[in-house]
Amino acid sequence: MAIDPVCHMEVDEEKAPAKTEYKSQMYYFCAPGCKVAFEKDPEFYSFIRTLEAYEKSLRRDTTVVMPSDSEFFRYLSPTAK
Ligand SMILES: [Zn+2]
Repeated sequence: MAIDPVCHMEVDEEKAPAKTEYKSQMYYFCAPGCKVAFEKDPEFYSFIRTLEAYEKSLRRDTTVVMPSDSEFFRYLSPTAK
């Protein structure tokens, strides 16, 4: 599983609705909207991802809490397509 760098959802690489290559690394997104957000500021998101990968290797039991009003909940909605 890959992590969507924008909303931090887990994304199946095989089924990712959107993906992009940045600095020879593939990034997978849960929705085209996340790709758009990423491409507006790829430096920022790739930096965040580096931080997160680092943190994960240190603390595997960390729980990520996401606010229910965040953007990606709208993408998840079955009517949002
Ligand atoms: Zn997303």
